[in-house]
Amino acid sequence: MIFKLIILGLVIYGVYILFIREGNLLDQVKEKTKRAASKAAEKEDAETVVECHKCGVYVSVDEAILKDGYYYCSKECAGVK
Ligand SMILES: [Zn+2]
Repeated sequence: MIFKLIILGLVIYGVYILFIREGNLLDQVKEKTKRAASKAAEKEDAETVVECHKCGVYVSVDEAILKDGYYYCSKECAGVK
């Protein structure tokens, strides 16, 4: 009887451990999916980066200053004050 109880306990423990591991695995998959999504978003941002005509620094188009058909990283580089 006691031996059977121990076996039963081990089986329950094993199932319990399996469920915990499976839960962690699911979390890891979710985490990876999130990271992949954020990386894809970063890539999209990187595509809109332009090089400063004066110093060669890369800036996003939103931050860049357009002057005489060239992009500049800052007002100093663009010669605007
Ligand atoms: Zn610059």
